[in-house]
Amino acid sequence: TQPHVIVIGGGFAGASCARALKRLDRDLAVTLIEPEAAYLACPFSNAVLAGLRGIEAQTFRYDQFGDIALIRKRAVAVDAERRRVRLEDGTDIGYVRLVLAPGIDLRFDALPGYDEAAAAIMPHAWKAGAQTLLLRDQLAAMPDGGVVILSAPPNPFRCPPGPYERASLIAHYLKTSKPRSKLIILDAKDAFSKQRLFEAAWQELYPGLIEWVPLSSGGRVTEVDPATRTLVTEFGNHKADVANVIPPQRAGGIAQSAGVADQTGWCPIDPVTFESRLQPAIHVIGDAVIGGAMPKSAFSANAQAKACAAAVAALVRERPPAQPKLINTCYSLVAPGYGISIAGVYQPRDGLLAEVEGAGGASPLEAPLSVRELEAAYAEDWFRTITSEVFG
Ligand code: FAD
Repeated sequence: TQPHVIVIGGGFAGASCARALKRLDRDLAVTLIEPEAAYLACPFSNAVLAGLRGIEAQTFRYDQFGDIALIRKRAVAVDAERRRVRLEDGTDIGYVRLVLAPGIDLRFDALPGYDEAAAAIMPHAWKAGAQTLLLRDQLAAMPDGGVVILSAPPNPFRCPPGPYERASLIAHYLKTSKPRSKLIILDAKDAFSKQRLFEAAWQELYPGLIEWVPLSSGGRVTEVDPATRTLVTEFGNHKADVANVIPPQRAGGIAQSAGVADQTGWCPIDPVTFESRLQPAIHVIGDAVIGGAMPKSAFSANAQAKACAAAVAALVRERPPAQPKLINTCYSLVAPGYGISIAGVYQPRDGLLAEVEGAGGASPLEAPLSVRELEAAYAEDWFRTITSEVFG
């Protein structure tokens, strides 16, 4: 019989890994477990908020998976000892190795007042889909002169530059459609990804429109009141017309119940094989992982998926796994036709995925508009390429 590898979660990480496994060894039986009929991609979803793009451009149906067995159900439990996965309908399936790629859960227990009901009034829009459209519609309904507040979470979280790309594109929308409005970023941090590039671009494109309040100036939101759309900080209250609350996060629920998440809520892994530090024969990839300098991005998820697939394919055939080298590039749009990026290279060192010194870099701080235009075009090309590779 063929060795059976199960992948849970059909996002950038899991779908990439299932394909790579089959590509590396046609004689593996590969099963992908994913309950949704279509994937809604987060990259470029900030452009949807700003009315620059339709949600259909973010939607990818799971119908191009060839000889990978696709099970459209939720996995509800993992028995690591007996190596079995239980599905929502009570069925259970055995594996020789399991890859967990469940992405994130928003923590509805971490910010007083912010639960699932509050998210229907103060959307997080940190999983693309209904939440993205809710925030878009709230922005569209807001009168000119309104105050939009975005609350950014502490590290680590999905997509480090994401809140600031979002602030930029919301500012673009306000500048062009509601110029008397204002955007306040309440931040639980004192620094953020590509900060100097973002701040320089904000000054150039949106002077006076965006106010960033860092942790040390009272930016950390400690409580919210959805009834009045109020965000509470140690330095006072802020009332919003539209509030986008991005709460703290952790690995997707199945990682907690499989016993691969630690007290941080994230999953520690061996950086060579992506095997869990806590359970044998279970590998974890994508946003659910903690273990070094690699940011939580779709680009990283795809790179980790390929490295993990190579390790799993080797281990199943009792061959030693190779040392991986992984690349990440995160593009952000500051405005239509205005892109910036940051890139890094990562490899195992001292048990973690460490950044290779001097191998990465960010866009130049001073550059003609043509460079920003090129990077915006590269961002689009990257999205087209990765989504066609991963979702067919
Ligand atoms: P996900 O994409 O969340 O996939 C997880 C999948 O697992 C889902 O399909 C889910 O249905 C499934 N699942 C969960 N639990 C179960 C279960 N129990 N059983 C079965 N299936 C399950 N990244 C970039 O590289 N570039 C960008 O420009 C970029 N922009 C972003 C902008 C925003 C606003 C946001 C929020 C994120 C952005 N990201 C970007 C980050 C990127 O979206 C994530 O890093 C990426 O989606 C992580 O992939 P993943 O496969 O780990 O998780």
